[in-house]
Amino acid sequence: MEPPVENLTRLSVMGEIQIKIDRQTCMGSGNCQFWAPSVFDLDDDGVAVVVEVEGDPEEKVVLAARGCPTQSITVFRDGEQIGP
Ligand code: SF4
Repeated sequence: MEPPVENLTRLSVMGEIQIKIDRQTCMGSGNCQFWAPSVFDLDDDGVAVVVEVEGDPEEKVVLAARGCPTQSITVFRDGEQIGP
């Protein structure tokens, strides 16, 4: 069974970036895929997952978090929330 929150961390030149997806609240709209198509995908259950943490620039990941209709994506840099 999938964990309720997908929690992935990456290192970038700007610092440590952490992307969290709340799998309980994700409604599978695909907006995150639109904004950051190389980072986000939908799994077989139609729930968002991170496929490539380095796939798109940090700004796009933040835009994806802002564009999520259910606020299921949270982005942190060095422990500080930068999105949504
Ligand atoms: S934008 Fe939000 S609700 Fe839509 S698929 Fe991505 S995480 Fe899920």
